[in-house]
Amino acid sequence: MTDWKAEAERLDKADPLARYRGDFLLDDDLAYLDGNSLGALPRATPARIEGVVQEEWGKGLISSWNTANWIDLPQRVGAKIAPLVGAHENEIVVADSVSVNLFKLISAALSMRDGRKVVLSEPGNFPTDLYMIDGLEGQGLAQRRLAERDGIEAALDNDVALLLLTHVHYKSGEMFDMARLTKAAHDAGALVLWDLSHSVGAVPVDLNGAGADFAVGCGYKYLNGGPGAPGFAFVAQRHHDGLQQPLSGWMGHAKPFEFSDDYRPAPGVDQLLCGTPPILSMSALEVGVDLMTGIGIDALVKKSRQLSEFTRAAMAQALPELPCISPDEPERRGSQLSFRHDHAYELCQALIARKVIGDFRAPDILRLGFAPAYVRFADCWRAVSELRDILESGEWQKAEYAERAPVT
Ligand SMILES: *Cc1c(COP(=O)(O)O)cnc(C)c1O
Repeated sequence: MTDWKAEAERLDKADPLARYRGDFLLDDDLAYLDGNSLGALPRATPARIEGVVQEEWGKGLISSWNTANWIDLPQRVGAKIAPLVGAHENEIVVADSVSVNLFKLISAALSMRDGRKVVLSEPGNFPTDLYMIDGLEGQGLAQRRLAERDGIEAALDNDVALLLLTHVHYKSGEMFDMARLTKAAHDAGALVLWDLSHSVGAVPVDLNGAGADFAVGCGYKYLNGGPGAPGFAFVAQRHHDGLQQPLSGWMGHAKPFEFSDDYRPAPGVDQLLCGTPPILSMSALEVGVDLMTGIGIDALVKKSRQLSEFTRAAMAQALPELPCISPDEPERRGSQLSFRHDHAYELCQALIARKVIGDFRAPDILRLGFAPAYVRFADCWRAVSELRDILESGEWQKAEYAERAPVT
């Protein structure tokens, strides 16, 4: 038997990213393995928000749109996200939620593929991705088609306008081969939209290397932007001229302060802005993004793989009764591991009571996420050893652990 506790200590000592944990407000005794749902609070965020509120808003008032560069914030933060996903600075803008950005980009793709209506995705994709297709179908603009992972390429026929996939699956952690599927879609005359919500800041993403057309991503997971942080949208440069999206709000106008009666879209991704950007949330997101780009995506990916590999191996040895449904090879999965158990909900609650935070995904998945900027190997070992203890002692059977809260 490997001494996993000693191995965790050794890995933490050798970890070049260990010093970044102090950049987050996390209790020392907290094993936070849910940064893939809500990233931790950067230590610099409260002061930044305080400054935006007291100085920029309180004192600068409306002049801060110019003097504090509020008006450029969506593009500025977008440009900072670009190197994390293999995009050019002018190909990304921060705006709205992932769901709303999906609506804009699915619509844009459909308008570029005259005569084709099918949006192809997979069953079990993150619900909002499927629901946004449904909304467009309800308006007669799209037709939803679902194909299992191994049947996606076969389902790409002449009717498919857009392939919409989530790069890293939220439940299983399985990662698609972005380059291969993008090429398959293009070969069939379709465009591709990647949802990077579980990818950005944790796994290698090369949108331009893969030839991707569109992408969206989440600000409050590995980017640590805070609850409900705005998302981002990517449009490949070659599509900037033909871009057309239906949420034609005034902030996406070429000259919003001309107050013209007629909509004229701004060039490039600026057109994806709809209403006034939420400056407080975007400022918080900028702090989180700065932290991630400061560490660098290569170092983040390397540690993410080490963390998940350590946990997979330790779990397999210590708790073989909890099968891992994520791929074995670190290159084929995101920064998470998912384990199946009939009482996954109760196990998760019992873990939380011991200050090990993972999460539960219905009906039977216990999910552990490894945000590489602040998770320690010791946290991973604690998850394994506490789980073993909770199972062996039967503690998970306490009635209080079976009560379901509104958010799981
Ligand atoms: C978290 C997540 C979202 C979030 O969408 P919002 O509209 O920002 O709530 C979307 N897609 C995927 C795949 C996600 O994991």
